[in-house]
Amino acid sequence: MVHGVVEGLSEIRESLADLYRDLHQHPELSLQETRSAAVLARHLREAGCDEVAEQVGVTGVVGVLRNGEGPVVMLRADFDALPVEERTGLPYASVARGVDQEGREVPVMHACGHDMHAACLVGAATLLARSRDQWRGTLLVVFQPAEELAVGARGMVDDGLFERFPEPQIVLGQHVAPLPAGFIGYGTGPVMAAADSLHITLHGKGGHGSRPESTIDPVLMAANVVTRLQGIVAREVPPAEPAVVTVGRLQAGTKENIIPDRAELGVNIRTYTPQARDLVRAAVERIVRAESAASAAVAEPDLDWFGSAPALVSEPDATKATMAVFTEYFGAQRIQTMPLVNASEDVGVFGQAIAVPTVFWFWGGLETEPTLAALMEGRLDELPGNHSPFFAPVIEPTLSTGVEALVIAALTWLGAP
Ligand code: ZN
Ligand code: ZN
Repeated sequence: MVHGVVEGLSEIRESLADLYRDLHQHPELSLQETRSAAVLARHLREAGCDEVAEQVGVTGVVGVLRNGEGPVVMLRADFDALPVEERTGLPYASVARGVDQEGREVPVMHACGHDMHAACLVGAATLLARSRDQWRGTLLVVFQPAEELAVGARGMVDDGLFERFPEPQIVLGQHVAPLPAGFIGYGTGPVMAAADSLHITLHGKGGHGSRPESTIDPVLMAANVVTRLQGIVAREVPPAEPAVVTVGRLQAGTKENIIPDRAELGVNIRTYTPQARDLVRAAVERIVRAESAASAAVAEPDLDWFGSAPALVSEPDATKATMAVFTEYFGAQRIQTMPLVNASEDVGVFGQAIAVPTVFWFWGGLETEPTLAALMEGRLDELPGNHSPFFAPVIEPTLSTGVEALVIAALTWLGAP
């Protein structure tokens, strides 16, 4: 049954590769994906979706394939790009530029492979639309914007995704990764970290660098905050619990002999359980307030949390059931279990919003043989990873594997004819 649906892939493989190259050459920053959205919507209409809607959650695209009584299954792909200057040297490399949220002009690249995600989902929707005699139920096709800002999924849910369109019993998604092309990696339970970002402003009192006694130095205050924050993971989080606290931004002052009146920090935390998340967030706030008080700051620090994504949980039973079908189709040697990934994904927001399971897996995008060799020899650092200016999946077998995985996963949960 499964093979019957996938058979049509040979007919559309070339046009999907063209679509992929087109998306790759025209990357768009988060919440500005208007051209990509129009292209994807057109493909869904051509594929024969019964309903196609644009601008769901700003730039999201939704397609519905109705095929009689049966389960509703959601396939999701993200399609935003990043402010990265492409250095792959590929003939279809991006030279695009865009304007980011702060109004800066930046280079733009599909450095996370979301163009591949989108092309594969077009392929899967096309194949399932062409073989309605092979399954029953409803397929909900969701192209989600702004994954890189971790706001796109929430935006679509808040815009009525599950009120305006059929509510699925399961959410299925995938991410291309620095694994050998043709291979699938998965985990059960928490697979990607919760991410929380925080802007901090510390308030001192500025003055001449030669008269520190007349000032309250926010640089020293910030330095103490940075150092003290490192104690959270080292001393407060249980050793068996993975967590990261990173201060990625620290800004103060303009000149060596002026003590500034404020310092700003940008903090990012990663955790896998709600308990650890609450613990780390509370500890960060406590330390920032306490260091501020210890320095006799002129005002309470400003703490502004933003850009939060919950941990991504691939529901264990549903994941095992899906991977059993993958193993049958791809062969056991092409399916691997993966360690926790410290990056984050907001796909989990969909399933959480309607209390249904999410199944999420990774699939390889790097040249198969050299990547296998590098993995065997532990040369992981040599492999270009997501967000690198050198990260662009080899088109095949990445594209075919991604389409096949989506189709097979969907058929695992759709009804039999
Ligand atoms: Zn990314
Ligand atoms: Zn990504």
